[in-house]
Amino acid sequence: MIVVMQTAAEKEQVEGVEQKLVEMGFAPHRIQGAGRVVIGAVGERKVVFPTGLEVLPGVERVVPIGAPYKLVSREVKEKGSVVGVGDLKVGGSEIVVMAGPCAVESEEQLLTIARLVKAAGAQVLRGGAFKPRSSPYSFQGLELEGLKMLNRAREETGLKIVTEVLNPQEVELIADYTDIIQIGARNMQNFSLLREVGRLKKPVLLKRGLAATLEEWLMAAEYILAEGNFQVILCERGIRTFETSTRSTLDISAIPQAKCMTHLPVVADPCHASGTWKLASPLSRAAIAAGADGLLIEVHHKPSEALCDGPQSLTPEKFSRLLFSLQPVAEAVKRTVCVGKDLSMTGGL
Ligand code: PEP
Ligand code: MN
Repeated sequence: MIVVMQTAAEKEQVEGVEQKLVEMGFAPHRIQGAGRVVIGAVGERKVVFPTGLEVLPGVERVVPIGAPYKLVSREVKEKGSVVGVGDLKVGGSEIVVMAGPCAVESEEQLLTIARLVKAAGAQVLRGGAFKPRSSPYSFQGLELEGLKMLNRAREETGLKIVTEVLNPQEVELIADYTDIIQIGARNMQNFSLLREVGRLKKPVLLKRGLAATLEEWLMAAEYILAEGNFQVILCERGIRTFETSTRSTLDISAIPQAKCMTHLPVVADPCHASGTWKLASPLSRAAIAAGADGLLIEVHHKPSEALCDGPQSLTPEKFSRLLFSLQPVAEAVKRTVCVGKDLSMTGGL
């Protein structure tokens, strides 16, 4: 349930309600809404109305939450959340572009790509140092060395970093090196990992599982919020369907639907969804038109030599063209997108 406080409620009254909720066996989560405080109360206990909370000083009303997910629900917070990554805002009017290689392969590879995606207009550099590969024989990532390279790329370019964590034991290490911590599709229901990143004070990019319903995806996000970390960005990265001509199917409807169900920002990953760079541009435009708050795009300066996901990686020139093509779409939905140099004209920096 949620307890909606009066606009004029005092701090002590809010604390009084929180204390009462604890006594009743609920975990209270205070959410500062526009102009008033609402308290999300979560717990296993079935709520019986009236709850007794209605008569406490400062309380305006007590509302049951219909959905099984609570803290991520739009019912708890009507206004969309904006996740701050330093000075960058995900969920604001500007579309946030995260781009880079699937995997960090070497310092030279990463810095080359970082400089180019930065010049093209990206704000965040992606790159896996710990890779979740379907085969144990495939390249697994440079691990700590890769994290250090990401940090050097951040120092040089000023780009923020997003990189994936595979298991709970590595959360602390990776959190030290990254601005956004990524939970991959295969780990969406790794509940101990979700709890661990929930204890961080750092944005989390939570990818949708390969066959996860929206409810399952939001329940996964709920694990993170329930631990106290409200800085979650959802990422629609395609789901398994009967279609085999693309790697997965980008569920465009999931973007506006998720935004109805939750206040969390939603970004789209057209490269993992389609498996081919050729669809990255049209799918990116579709995602922005459908209300996505950002994009995650794989870029490699030599896709044919990439150790991971080369066929779905755009060259920096194609990536630059993609960003230009987003502008009229972003404008049509009253958003902005930062576009830098046209690398397709200069052939590089
Ligand atoms: C990735 O972004 O590098 C990745 C492995 O994606 P996903 O978890 O969506 O497959
Ligand atoms: Mn990849």
